[in-house]
Amino acid sequence: MMGLKRSLKSLIIIFFAVALVCTSVLPVAAESTTSAGTHWYVIKDIGFALKVPPDLKIKRAEKKGNFIGSNDKIRVKIIRWNQVSYPNLNSLYKLVGKHTSKKIKKVRRGGLKMVKVLGLKTKVKYYILAPNGDDYIITISPNKKKNPKLRFKDIKKDAKAIEESFRLPKKIPKGAKRITIKKTKFPKPNYLVLVNSSNKISKKWSDKISTVKAVNSRGNKVKAERRTYKAYLKLKHDLEKNDSVYVDLDYGLRTVKEQQEIIDEYTERYGYAYANRIAAKPGYSEHHTGLALDLYLIIDGEEVYLNEEMEKYPKVWKKIHAKLAKYGFILRYPKNSGYPYEPWHIRYVGKKAAKEIMAEPGLTLEQYLARS
Ligand SMILES: [Zn+2]
Repeated sequence: MMGLKRSLKSLIIIFFAVALVCTSVLPVAAESTTSAGTHWYVIKDIGFALKVPPDLKIKRAEKKGNFIGSNDKIRVKIIRWNQVSYPNLNSLYKLVGKHTSKKIKKVRRGGLKMVKVLGLKTKVKYYILAPNGDDYIITISPNKKKNPKLRFKDIKKDAKAIEESFRLPKKIPKGAKRITIKKTKFPKPNYLVLVNSSNKISKKWSDKISTVKAVNSRGNKVKAERRTYKAYLKLKHDLEKNDSVYVDLDYGLRTVKEQQEIIDEYTERYGYAYANRIAAKPGYSEHHTGLALDLYLIIDGEEVYLNEEMEKYPKVWKKIHAKLAKYGFILRYPKNSGYPYEPWHIRYVGKKAAKEIMAEPGLTLEQYLARS
């Protein structure tokens, strides 16, 4: 009995020894064939692929639209930026230039268009233009949470390797991990909301909308409701391409405090009577909704943004107004409506209502809403 047990024991030892030898040989072979793709990630909703070190796993973070990956050494972060004026590399380049004092460079890699920020000491940063027209920021930095002593120079090689893998997901090995993300659901506010001198903005309104920030050609920050802004970009693009008309955003979403500042500015420039007539009381401005936009014109490369100057270009406004309904906008204060005429103030209401309102010149939103 004893002898049998002993020989069984040695059999087991031999078995484990063989297994050990096998496992130390086999993975090398596997590495060069099938598992090569396992370090690749395809982030499907972006249309972007990258290769990371084997122990780095990219996951979608809790925060909307963010991807985070880390191992002991590196942290990779991909976030939505939502800033591009329209989808081309030059507009991305210009915009990034306004957001950083560092030198930047246009980069095309693997079919992707991006802007790289140069000279950052603690991380490497890219602004990527996804094929769907959205823009993302990728940063690769040392994982200081794991090791506070890590410096960027310690991960420079790894960061470079990741950068070199950036590409469109057309030619990547089989077995790449795919991160499929459902489209982010943004809130859909009531696009027919009425805010005027007798209808105050609801206190809850700001919780109901998702906003985006942009920088205009004058370097000012402008905020607007997300769908309103996207529709505006389409309008702007159409006007440039087909009418050679150039516009930009002077004002979008305005807080109650900012409304007071506008009134002060108008009072100083045009006097109390005009300011009182053209600017709404704080709380009663349509600009609080984020659905109202004030345009300004760019004529022969010069910005024309003062009201009295803008009024000198009726033919240009006519071309702009003709395109509004197609993108869901109305001219909110048309001629003969009882309101002072404001050719620059447009309001997003959605395509259906916009087509109906714009089909009847002089019809106001108030009159339209009173019908239904
Ligand atoms: Zn306005």
